[in-house]
Amino acid sequence: MSLPRKDLFHLPDGMIYLDGNSLGPLPKAVTDRVQHTLSAEWGEQLIKGWNTCGWMAQPSEVGNTVGRLIGAPEGSVVMGDTLSIKVFQALSAAIAMRPKRKVILSDNGNFPTDLYMAEGLIRLKDAGYELRVVDPEDVTQHIDDTIATVMLTEVDYRTGRKHDMTAITKQAHDAGAVMIWDLAHSAGAIEVDLHGSKCEFAIGCTYKYLNGGPGAPAFIYVRPDLAPQIDPALSGWLGHDAPFAFEQNYRPGQGIERMRVGTPPVLQMAALEAALTVWEGVEMSDIRAASIALCDQFITEVEGRCPDLTLISPRNGNERGSQVSFAFENGYAAMQAVIAKGVIGDFRAPNVMRFGFTPLYIDAGDVTEAVTRIADVLDNKLWDRPEYKTKSRVT
Ligand SMILES: *Cc1c(COP(=O)(O)O)cnc(C)c1O
Repeated sequence: MSLPRKDLFHLPDGMIYLDGNSLGPLPKAVTDRVQHTLSAEWGEQLIKGWNTCGWMAQPSEVGNTVGRLIGAPEGSVVMGDTLSIKVFQALSAAIAMRPKRKVILSDNGNFPTDLYMAEGLIRLKDAGYELRVVDPEDVTQHIDDTIATVMLTEVDYRTGRKHDMTAITKQAHDAGAVMIWDLAHSAGAIEVDLHGSKCEFAIGCTYKYLNGGPGAPAFIYVRPDLAPQIDPALSGWLGHDAPFAFEQNYRPGQGIERMRVGTPPVLQMAALEAALTVWEGVEMSDIRAASIALCDQFITEVEGRCPDLTLISPRNGNERGSQVSFAFENGYAAMQAVIAKGVIGDFRAPNVMRFGFTPLYIDAGDVTEAVTRIADVLDNKLWDRPEYKTKSRVT
């Protein structure tokens, strides 16, 4: 199947959407599917839907579909909750596996919520844990036998810089540490070989490159040989071995099922399940090759036409995820002016203009047109208007 597959998405006329790294666009299949889930399933079946419509099995079934995109074997991924919650689950399980070690290692390119969740877990444990946050380039120097777990996001949300998953995982294991990868900016963006990496845990969200929609459920992977030994900190009833036995005490469910917590978000799960059909017949290696070509083209054209912007993403496509970021002192206002021209990217403090490239619905013509509009904003200082300088709640 060739790329792009624009006909599978609802893309507003005239808009060039370079923000699929933050919230993917609406796949057309989602509309009918959610309507069906509302009317025919919830509407007609009501509570019977848990059985007749397979709602209870969905978190594992959709988990398998996501698993195929990230190199995870059947039965090793389950959906639910939000990524922040999945960070907490993975981290609490990881530190429990190395009770004598007290350091959680991460980097300052990580997304804040991952670090905040670690801080909260450490306060809750009150057992002398330390969160050690270093520069991304220095992570490997800090991996030693004091580290309980290394928790990293593979692709940096600001710059797009990509860690070497296989090499860092191996180094963590050589030092006896447990490895957790956050794939928020990897799943659906780049090739991931979770099984091959041998990491213990991986987590991620599905509203970015997987187009599951605002509020789509997150995923968690536990290496299959470990899943039966994990003691879940969030021991909710749907992770129980027999939820409908209503036993008084918790007993963890089989394998990855124990990472479920409570009632799944059925409407969001239906949306996500339909959204994932756009990947049928797509090879992640083709996505990756097309994404690198689009990003390279964008860098060349922006550097040729917009001298005020400074590239802060790695120039080598193999060291980058599927986004390109430029620093510009008036980045916030400039991005608002670019958005007003129908090119949607976003801004990340303090000065980063960020553009995501998703070969499912972006092609080379879109890149050239986007750069034309960005150059117009900069050449004519269109950003220098009061209406572009007031910050919204979400940037
Ligand atoms: C997007 C993102 C999140 C968001 O977490 P939510 O709980 O889904 O809001 C967390 N971590 C990383 C690395 C992200 O990129």
